[in-house]
Amino acid sequence: MPALPSHAHYVIIGAGIHGLSTSMHLAQKLKAKRKSIGAGGARIVVLEKTGIGAGPSGIACGVVRNNYFQPAMRELMAHSVSVWESDPEAYSYHPVGYMQISPEVMHAQIGTIYEQQKAIGYESVFIEGEAESRQYMEGLFKDWQAKNITSVLHEKRGGYANNMASLRGLAKKAKALGVEIFEGVEVKALRSGNGTSAITSVETPAGSITCDQVIIGAGPWINSLWNMLGLPKQISVKGGDGKTHDGVPMWHYMALQEGTLGVDPNFQKTNDGAMPPVIHVDTDAPLHSDRDGKLITDKLWGIYYKPDFNFGGVQGGAMPATVETPADEVRVDPYGPKSPEFVVTDNFADMWTSALAFCQKRFEGKNGVYKKEPSGGIGCFTPDSFPVFDRFRENVYVIADSNHGYKMIGVGKLVADELLGEGSTLLEPFRFSRYATGKLHPVSNSPFPWS
Ligand SMILES: Cc1cc2nc3c(=O)[nH]c(=O)nc-3n(C[C@H](O)[C@H](O)[C@H](O)COP(=O)(O)OP(=O)(O)OC[C@H]3O[C@@H](n4cnc5c(N)ncnc54)[C@H](O)[C@@H]3O)c2cc1C
Repeated sequence: MPALPSHAHYVIIGAGIHGLSTSMHLAQKLKAKRKSIGAGGARIVVLEKTGIGAGPSGIACGVVRNNYFQPAMRELMAHSVSVWESDPEAYSYHPVGYMQISPEVMHAQIGTIYEQQKAIGYESVFIEGEAESRQYMEGLFKDWQAKNITSVLHEKRGGYANNMASLRGLAKKAKALGVEIFEGVEVKALRSGNGTSAITSVETPAGSITCDQVIIGAGPWINSLWNMLGLPKQISVKGGDGKTHDGVPMWHYMALQEGTLGVDPNFQKTNDGAMPPVIHVDTDAPLHSDRDGKLITDKLWGIYYKPDFNFGGVQGGAMPATVETPADEVRVDPYGPKSPEFVVTDNFADMWTSALAFCQKRFEGKNGVYKKEPSGGIGCFTPDSFPVFDRFRENVYVIADSNHGYKMIGVGKLVADELLGEGSTLLEPFRFSRYATGKLHPVSNSPFPWS
């Protein structure tokens, strides 16, 4: 591996979707300003402790959607979808669309999403009523049979991308522009000096790098970087009731549950033989096991799924599980399928395959072909489960997406603008100060913490 430079203008920590997207867009923007990148010019260095895609970006289901109840999230996602659409080949992006299929308790909120999608020019179709929803779904899949569904929001844009292929595409573009990516280099400490709180050097076992700006895109490792910055472990949050709640943990973890049904992906084609949109179903109809008929839940539940050649089957997931362990004690490494603690259990397999059978007859009796391989991974969440994109310690930009983020490829583009002195109105609603001021995002009725 080539030696680390002793100085870089921009040190980016983490080669996941955000670190790579920021590096690539920053290089693009500097080039457009006729600046040279690399030795002798502006140096953009990405430090990655393991390898490109070693975190959730490398295992994510890859769903790209707009469907969010929060106006600020929706506008930001529309921006990101346009970045995916800008180079589908390099990003291995499949624009098949996305469907949010919901029960009555979510009907009105999904209706507002549709209205606001219309207002921002994001193409979607909204079907209301139980019979109408069933008819619409049967028009796509003859075997549709999900119950307690009274609305369908069909987003015509969005879809999914292949996790590692998209990261490799981003890295290739970044390197071609002069970005230097160092894998196997872990940042162990961040030092300040000159009588300011700004970070002046980044310390690694391979040497230290003095720097002008630091950008952190560390995914579920954000808690350890946050600690290196000496930022508060607990914060005060002004709630919707106007009351301030003190001592709220800044970070908590959840375990994302995903898996793959080992069928030919063509098994999930639509009636007319096309690759279908990504399906997301929430419902309050009781769910019984497709294996033994036992009741799995009679509470609101949800799943998502799509045929995916990359995963070799029909792949998807369900609601995440809460990790009760305090953030400082959570063992993030080894990450994802290599974790002894956080891979999905047989309960997930039973629930998810039963839910597939609940939605479409073709999945009945298929639980035996669920792929029994380790899957899933943890995400690190903020107090309100929405991202924090903000500057700390004068020259450190933190991209903490609260696990919303593979789809947010466009955030790096907006962060690059901010690094170069242009403010971004799309990122403004995600500042850390919202916890103190109470400018929080509205909360939806969805069973998922990220809708
Ligand atoms: C199972 C699962 C499925 C998901 N599915 C979706 C989905 O379908 N759609 C969606 O939008 N989102 C999805 N997400 C969420 C999404 O994957 C994450 O929000 C996003 O990938 C985070 O990107 P990142 O760049 O912040 O972090 P990461 O992908 O974690 O990248 C951070 C990198 O930083 C490196 N690093 C950490 N600490 C250091 C250090 N000290 N020094 C050097 N390097 C360091 C890590 O090795 C890692 O490679 C999913 C998450 C999981 C777990």
